[in-house]
Amino acid sequence: MLSNKNMFKLSMVSLALAALLSGCQADTAAQATPAVQALNVNASHYYSVQLAGVDYQLFTTATDLQVRNAERELARQSGKFSRLTLQPLNSEAVLLAAMDTNNNSLYLWRFAPKEAPGLQLLQRQLISSRVVDDLCFYHSTENQQLSLFLMGGRGGADQLLLQQQQQWLAQPLLIRELNIPYDSTACAVDHMAGALYIAEADRAIWRYQAEPEADEGRSLVQVNKPFGQLQGEVKALQLLSDGSVLALEEQPARLLHLSANGELLTTALVPALAEASGLAVQQQAESLTAYVSSEQADAVQQLKLAVPANTVRNAKAAMVQLMPTLQTEAASQRGDVIDDPAVWHHPSAPARSLILATDKRAGLDVYNMQGKRVQQLNVGRLNNVDLRYGLNWQGSVHDIAAASLRDDNSLQLFAIDSSGKLHNAGKVATNMADIYGLCMYQSSKTGQQFVFVNDKSGLIQQYRIDTNGHAWQGSLVRSLQVPSQPEGCVADDNSGMLFVGEEDAGIWRFAAEPDAAVAGEQIILVDGETLVDDVEGLALATHGDNQYLIASSQGNDSYLIYDAAAPYALRLRFRVSTNPQLAIDGSSETDGLDVTTRSLGPGFEQGALIVQDGRNRMPEQGQNLKLVPWADILQQLN
Ligand code: CA
Ligand code: CA
Ligand code: CA
Ligand code: CA
Ligand code: CA
Repeated sequence: MLSNKNMFKLSMVSLALAALLSGCQADTAAQATPAVQALNVNASHYYSVQLAGVDYQLFTTATDLQVRNAERELARQSGKFSRLTLQPLNSEAVLLAAMDTNNNSLYLWRFAPKEAPGLQLLQRQLISSRVVDDLCFYHSTENQQLSLFLMGGRGGADQLLLQQQQQWLAQPLLIRELNIPYDSTACAVDHMAGALYIAEADRAIWRYQAEPEADEGRSLVQVNKPFGQLQGEVKALQLLSDGSVLALEEQPARLLHLSANGELLTTALVPALAEASGLAVQQQAESLTAYVSSEQADAVQQLKLAVPANTVRNAKAAMVQLMPTLQTEAASQRGDVIDDPAVWHHPSAPARSLILATDKRAGLDVYNMQGKRVQQLNVGRLNNVDLRYGLNWQGSVHDIAAASLRDDNSLQLFAIDSSGKLHNAGKVATNMADIYGLCMYQSSKTGQQFVFVNDKSGLIQQYRIDTNGHAWQGSLVRSLQVPSQPEGCVADDNSGMLFVGEEDAGIWRFAAEPDAAVAGEQIILVDGETLVDDVEGLALATHGDNQYLIASSQGNDSYLIYDAAAPYALRLRFRVSTNPQLAIDGSSETDGLDVTTRSLGPGFEQGALIVQDGRNRMPEQGQNLKLVPWADILQQLN
């Protein structure tokens, strides 16, 4: 009888790999001739891992999943597991995921042999959305999320959130449905780069962004002959520590080593296998081993590969994540539709406050504090909106909202009555060619109300809004300038300061009074790391003695909070991430935002940050707004 020890002793069969050249390819990639050993185990997916200094083998056969060390079997789970995927949790524990095709169930186990010798079942979930052809974990250190891609072979993948901020979810949560090619056969994730690689049969390998809030753009990594190097169906992909990729072709069994951008570095045939299906890598300081397995009953082949040269890549530091607790109804149209919000406070009942938002195709949407759309004013292509309080219109006090109307480069005015109903209050023509951003200002000296509006050329105009008791008129009082395209802006009524975002460059400050000097000061620069262009929405918040300037850093889907006074120190940067309890997605690609520190009713007693979300997911829908309690932001600021 074979002892377990003998069973796992490597049978030292060295295979000659001399005649590796396929003969029909003229590529320049080196044909590697790695040392190959056949392991005395028949497994369709095979991993070797070292935990707390001990080697373990984890593998699937036609009828089960087994875990062993050199001496003995530690666990065995029966099932027809089509894929086995591992994710290290720390130096002593790994996470395993596998699909049991007998019952279309996803299994998640923790294997931590120092704690418990066997597999600890974390989740078992029936998957009804699709037949799963591969599984890939994605761990984002920056956003503190662990998710799992369920890759289907018929044009789609589901991304399930498993863990957020080190907390396991009660059950996996679908956070994104990704469109991938029909006939996708394998996936792999570069955790550090946030990249998802997808193999499209024998045709191509693609690279997508793995972040659930990222766009669905993809780039081509490799393609089949005659334009590229692929020859057979790619059955498995694995990432190496330097960000390069191993791709396994089925027949003839061939390993391709590709750089992150797809350049073919080396190839190696695995002639002992009739057909290859599984690939795992074990990378240690001095060695890199690939395990190639087959669903046929062939022995697992162990290949010693060259260790990548530049293996030091640091995981991104964790960024503060805050959760939205309310989202507005989705825009009925898909596409880049919603742009800029502004909060209106009800005079006596905070919970009856409203959120106004521009719809770039149609006009203005109004939402209540349940997020429900309560009014739509189809006045044309509005870009930005802002508001102030108390200006007579049609014989009684109203509040005023102004928006930039791109149809005719005018200011579109709205009167808001005390019940919160908006009325079209006419337009103010401008001589601008390409009207864009807008914000309002009420002078604390004179009480007069103004609209600042900018043009894509960098021109900023200031209009005074007057009332004769019944109607409003606007008059141009001053012009300012920034060097390139501005958009977001905000004015502080108390200090008389105007802040303007110059999209590609940074943030400017001007004096807001109509008789003040026109020279501006560039106070914050786009640095491509913290503040990443475009600079979009701007807002101000006063809390006690502190005044903060909040900016949407659209280029890295984050929000920055600066002191609103020199030297404009950065106080906080954060993202708005998934709220698993309320099933609200995070926000990204944010254009406009607004902040209030006054109550908006239950859940928002200290106000809210309101951001436009460029990609409304869970499920995929038209754009909307996300609300984060200001109290949660204050807690981070303090
Ligand atoms: Ca947009
Ligand atoms: Ca606004
Ligand atoms: Ca913009
Ligand atoms: Ca989103
Ligand atoms: Ca959503």
